[in-house]
Parts: sequence; structure tokens; C-alpha cells
Amino acid sequence: MTQRTALVTGGTGGIGTAIVRYLARQGHRVATNYRDPAKADAWRKAMAAEGIEVYMAQGDVAEPDASETMIQDIEQNFGPIEILINNAGITRDTTFHKMSYAQWMDVVNTNLNACFNVTRPVIDGMRGRKWGRIVQISSINGQKGQYGQANYAAAKAGMHGFTISLAQENARFGITVNTVSPGYVGTDMVMAVPEEVREKIIAQIPIGRLGKPEEIAHAVAFLTGEEAGWITGTNLAINGGHYMGW
Ligand code: NDP
Repeated sequence: MTQRTALVTGGTGGIGTAIVRYLARQGHRVATNYRDPAKADAWRKAMAAEGIEVYMAQGDVAEPDASETMIQDIEQNFGPIEILINNAGITRDTTFHKMSYAQWMDVVNTNLNACFNVTRPVIDGMRGRKWGRIVQISSINGQKGQYGQANYAAAKAGMHGFTISLAQENARFGITVNTVSPGYVGTDMVMAVPEEVREKIIAQIPIGRLGKPEEIAHAVAFLTGEEAGWITGTNLAINGGHYMGW
């Protein structure tokens, strides 16, 4: 296996941690970003206790300048980024007629505009080296829409539009670009949903349970592998059968 340098944004979160762990255990060198130094330190120590050393760079992916500084930090001090997982994300749920501009912008900036902010400073290096793997972590709700999530569904659907354009522009540079669209996974993001709502969600999932972060990480690792070099511009839905559309 060729050892690569990977950046997983939002690597300290539920799905992000599983992706970091999976890539590291495959032998890759992994970096992530953080915003809160105390939280980051506790997470880094927990990973180190598992034998996983993660390079951590401060950076808010919703901010273009901070993202560029973060990429410079990683590339200068850790190495050129060969695998990029745009995973950081937030929700600010409410029905559209009650939605504030801030709720709209926070979600679009963190989920969608972050793809520009983080990928733009990375792409030239990948093109120059003629190898790269980029994966956007979108969502089932970007595919099917969701009551109370016009902001999130719009941003997540936009991420796949980004994927398929970037895939076309960069295929001849050895760079593949794909989307993974998880269904409901039992991380803090989903456990914050009231239990009765969660039960209703689970009832709609043919496999009959929430997903596990490791199941998303497995798919991400598959798409970033050397052997996945002919898979580009795809959207891999991992949702227990909850939504079987594109
Ligand atoms: P978590 O809330 O557990 O983790 C989110 C991560 O993103 C955290 O590390 C958080 O860091 C980071 N983050 C958030 N905002 C920013 C920002 N502005 N700049 C830098 N980092 C930021 O979420 P999940 O692990 O559940 O979700 C990961 C991804 O998967 C998201 O994109 C989400 O939309 C998507 N997804 C999740 C599903 C689920 O069921 N959980 C379903 C479908 C998609 P910090 O600690 O600083 O806040």
C-alpha cells in the first residue's frame, strides 16, 4: 500500500473520527483541523492512546482566509495533501418560513462554501503531482430534501454539484472526486434529535437501525484507495436503504 497524506476536515466529530481512524489504520498519515484548542487536545490524546498520531491545524473551514492558512500549515509542516475529505458540517434546523439569514449562511458556509475554501488551496498541488482523492461528505437529505432543513439540503445537494464538476476538470490529472451521502448515523448530530423523532426515522430505514460511523469510514477509505482510480463523479449513498434514488 502507498502511504498518503490525508486531511479530514471535522476529524474530531463522530464520522470524522471514524474516517481518521480508518485511514490511519490503513497506514496513511492523517491531519485534521480544530477550532477549540482544549477540545482538540483532549481528542488528540485519546487518538494517541489508540496509537494514532494526528497532525492538528487550527482552522475554521467556513472562513476562506482561515482555511488557506490551515492548508499552508499542514502542507508546510506535515506534507502535501493527497487525500482530502470535506467532512466538517453543521445543521441549524428550522422550517424555511422561520429561518434567519444567519441560519441559512452558517449552514451554507460550513457545508458548501467550505468545499471551496479547503479544496481551492489544495487542488493545484494535486494537479501538479498528478494524483489525488477528494471526497465530499454530503447527506441523504441533500438527495431527498428534509422538512426543516432547506438550508442543509441545499448545501448538501450543492456539494454533489461541486463533486461532478471537479471530477470532470481533474480526471486527466489522476484526481478522483466523489461524494458519500450518509443516511442517519448515530453521532452527536443525530442523537441531538428528540428521541421520538429518532424512533420515527429508524422506522423508515429498511435495515432497521441507525448507521455506524465506521460504515461511512469504510466507504470513504474504499473511494480513496489506489484501486478506486476509475471511480469518479459518483455519489455513494450509505443509508440502510432509507433512500434509494440517485
Ligand atoms: P459532528 O457534529 O459529530 O462533527 C462535526 C465536525 O465538524 C466536528 O469536528 C466540528 O468541529 C467540525 N466543524 C463544524 N463546523 C466547523 C467549522 N466551521 N470549521 C471547522 N470544523 C467544523 O458531525 P458528524 O460526524 O455527525 O457529521 C460529519 C459530516 O457528516 C457532516 O458533514 C454531516 O453533515 C454529515 N452527515 C452526518 C450524518 C449523521 O447522521 N450524523 C448524516 C448525513 C451526513 P467542532 O468540534 O469545532 O465543532
